Amino acid sequence: MSNRGTKTDVILIGAGIMSATLGTLLKELVPEWKMTMFEKLESPGEESSNEWNNAGTGHSALCELNYTEEKSDGSIDISKAVKINEQFQVSKQFWSYLVDSNLIEKPQDFIRPLPHMSLVQGEEDVRFLKKRFKALSNNPLFQGMEYSEDPEQLNEWIPLVMQDRADNEPIAATKIDSGTDVNFGALTRMLINHLKNNDVDVHYQHQVKKIKRTSDGHWELKVRDANGNVFYHTAKFVFIGAGGGSLHLLQKSGIPEGKHIGGFPVSGLFMVCNNPDIVEQHHAKVYGKAKVGAPPMSVPHLDTRFIDNKKSLLFGPFAGFSPKFLKTGSMFDLITSVKPHNVLTMLAAGVKEMALTKYLIQQVLLSKEKRIEELREFIPTAKAEDWDLIVAGQRVQVIKDTEAGGKGTLQFGTEVVSSKDGSIAALLGASPGASTAVHVMLQVIEKCFPQYLNEWEPKIKEMIPSYGASLLANPDLLKKVQTETAETLRLNEKEAVHGERASVLS
Ligand SMILES: Cc1cc2nc3c(=O)[nH]c(=O)nc-3n(C[C@H](O)[C@H](O)[C@H](O)COP(=O)(O)OP(=O)(O)OC[C@H]3O[C@@H](n4cnc5c(N)ncnc54)[C@H](O)[C@@H]3O)c2cc1C
Repeated sequence: MSNRGTKTDVILIGAGIMSATLGTLLKELVPEWKMTMFEKLESPGEESSNEWNNAGTGHSALCELNYTEEKSDGSIDISKAVKINEQFQVSKQFWSYLVDSNLIEKPQDFIRPLPHMSLVQGEEDVRFLKKRFKALSNNPLFQGMEYSEDPEQLNEWIPLVMQDRADNEPIAATKIDSGTDVNFGALTRMLINHLKNNDVDVHYQHQVKKIKRTSDGHWELKVRDANGNVFYHTAKFVFIGAGGGSLHLLQKSGIPEGKHIGGFPVSGLFMVCNNPDIVEQHHAKVYGKAKVGAPPMSVPHLDTRFIDNKKSLLFGPFAGFSPKFLKTGSMFDLITSVKPHNVLTMLAAGVKEMALTKYLIQQVLLSKEKRIEELREFIPTAKAEDWDLIVAGQRVQVIKDTEAGGKGTLQFGTEVVSSKDGSIAALLGASPGASTAVHVMLQVIEKCFPQYLNEWEPKIKEMIPSYGASLLANPDLLKKVQTETAETLRLNEKEAVHGERASVLS
């Protein structure tokens, strides 16, 4: 069966955090616009945005060592860390607006305060961490960061990590209490529920198969439901928020901006602790340093997580290689993404990233015992029987030709690709990901709706008071934003470190 003719203002492809965020922003800005969302799976937030498929770190560069590179002159470059921190402040402001407007009832259902820590071992890395601490700790965005090399202090912060640590190598850590654990799956579901209750047509088990421009400059989508019925929907604006599925759909749109771009899939595995006694002994996100040759997204970390009102403990992700672009994707995703226009870019990346591919394949082949050995660098007493392996989400890193890196350069950030007339946009890439969804979706709005920006600016500023301003350059605004978001999102509440947590769980 085929059905032609449904018309709407906006189509959002994919029910992940990105489409959910863009839909919610647009609903606040122009409630009268008609919006439709198509999701190929049965429910929202089942791919990368799902709480078990990502690490739930509210990325604000408080603990991720790859955001502060050491330059050749020995100094620490904090510019990336500042940028990511500011972007997370944007997310927190928008989420606070949603709580204040009663669009989200209980912030603790998706965000919890959790110390963010960096942990290193060995003289060289301790020296690096100390320098990083010096570079960040006087910066207002990173206020409250502490540093210690003292085993007693570390034992207080991370008893599980320090217990029975036999080696005498120097060890050091930083800790900052303003970190967060974010359940992006729960947030996605809340936002999409809100959209559904507010006149947005949300269709699950509807896969977008084709995208084509119509003669009047709009976009026609061919959509197939679970029973094989085919529908055609037209929209003035389309957002491709299909996660790993975005590259294929962007290619189908045929826009020139989508050419010469490829995707490099990276799979992931987490280890999850099944022993509640061990889970209770840890209360932090502890990030280590990437091994030589390892990509930044495989930096190991030991994370307390709050999922389904339960405290969990996860370690990983172990990066690996799989040709799929989505966890529910096909083994042909990588090969079918190679087109005449990107074949040279892909071949160049293949040659350049041979070592990375080899590393990722080796990682896939690691036995559970080998993975436990890596875990023991964090928890020396870890036992294999206390930990299970779970498959995480897929990340598709962007490959493109750049001036700095040349042909086929692997990118580690997120990238908005839009047509010149702003009628279609796609989000590619994976990192820092969901944490910066609000900043990235504001970029989509700026690129695709410049004609409305003057009219929309007051509302955007109501939702995100720091919109258009640098928080670092405005200490009073930073203080106000940090105080207000912490209060609204209940990030000031002290939680019990061990045993029962405070009232927020009830
Ligand atoms: C292992 C791992 C760890 C991560 N850790 C973090 C972290 O700690 N912090 C952080 O901020 N970010 C993290 N991320 C990144 C973050 O998860 C992603 O950036 C974010 O979830 C992407 O959201 P999305 O909406 O773009 O994609 P997704 O959540 O993948 O949603 C895309 C949706 O589109 C649907 N879809 C695909 N193709 C079609 C089609 N043709 N038709 C209809 N629907 C379609 C999919 O089924 C899916 O539901 C991590 C990611 C991974 C994989």
